[in-house]
Amino acid sequence: MIQEQISQYTEEINAFATSDAEQLEQFRIKFLGTKGIIKDIFDQFKAVSPEEKRTLGKVLNSFKQLAEEKYNTLKETLEAHAGPGAAAQIDLTLPGEGYEIGSRHPLALVRREIIAIFTKLGFSVAEGPEIEDDWHNFSALNFPEEHPARDMQDTFFIRKGGENGDIALRTHTSSVQVRMMEAGQPPFRALMPGRVYRNEAISARAHCFFHQIEGLYVDENVSFADLKQTLFYFVQELYGEGTKVRFRPSYFPFTEPSAEMDISCSICKGDGCQMCKQSGWVEILGCGMVDPNVLENCGIDSKKYSGFAFGMGIERIANLKFEIKDLRLFSENDVRFLKQYQSVLS
Ligand SMILES: [Zn+2]
Repeated sequence: MIQEQISQYTEEINAFATSDAEQLEQFRIKFLGTKGIIKDIFDQFKAVSPEEKRTLGKVLNSFKQLAEEKYNTLKETLEAHAGPGAAAQIDLTLPGEGYEIGSRHPLALVRREIIAIFTKLGFSVAEGPEIEDDWHNFSALNFPEEHPARDMQDTFFIRKGGENGDIALRTHTSSVQVRMMEAGQPPFRALMPGRVYRNEAISARAHCFFHQIEGLYVDENVSFADLKQTLFYFVQELYGEGTKVRFRPSYFPFTEPSAEMDISCSICKGDGCQMCKQSGWVEILGCGMVDPNVLENCGIDSKKYSGFAFGMGIERIANLKFEIKDLRLFSENDVRFLKQYQSVLS
């Protein structure tokens, strides 16, 4: 009786094939389920005589094995063919994932705006190397031998001494002015934007590198009045009409006379706030008439030509525009910070 059942079901199992998960599940329930055929036969097996059990036991076990193997093989094949989403149709009406575009760095936005303003006055843009020799960074610019800026504490030296003197990371973009004047004759009217390096501890207010924009105008009969009017125009364009300016006498090795320029605080409009330390004024740049020594160092006749120069930190201008309290934010590349300024300037 049991023998007959087994041979009948063996044929059925051998013949069984499907690629349908539902049919395979029906197969499992029919043969291997808790109320399935195999359970039923094992129950019948308990009643047979001990002599029969010996031979029948082996047959029954291999029958059970056959059903399990059939089920496992078909299940594996089915799973291999059904990759992720294989069952689900591709829905072409779903919205696409889209790509997020980047934004311009706030310093790049400010630099572009500054350049755009001076471009209207006929200034072009000049660039130079960030690794400079002593001549272009210091000597040609009238820095005396003992000037503190040459000290190890302020300058990153790459090499001390040697055939062409010290080699250092430039401490200002004035070196580009020297290179420009050495390469030709006036008139010169150019902006020099670029990264500069100072050996300072990094904090909210100081960094070992920052960005400058300098300007140089050299021609016949250039006067301090030209300098003042140029910079006055610049701040009206950058911070809006009605922005006041004032010049304070100062000293730089490469200009004579020299001045620092303040503007009425762009945050509080002169009423006094944290940014201007309640004074209503903030310093934004240094400037002056190019020292005749610098002109002569660069092969330009200082009796015939005169010029003015100015320089500002781009971070400083950006701070006054965006009220960014911590300089380190500019170089940390946190997209949450950088994305805020995408639409402020264009
Ligand atoms: Zn203020």
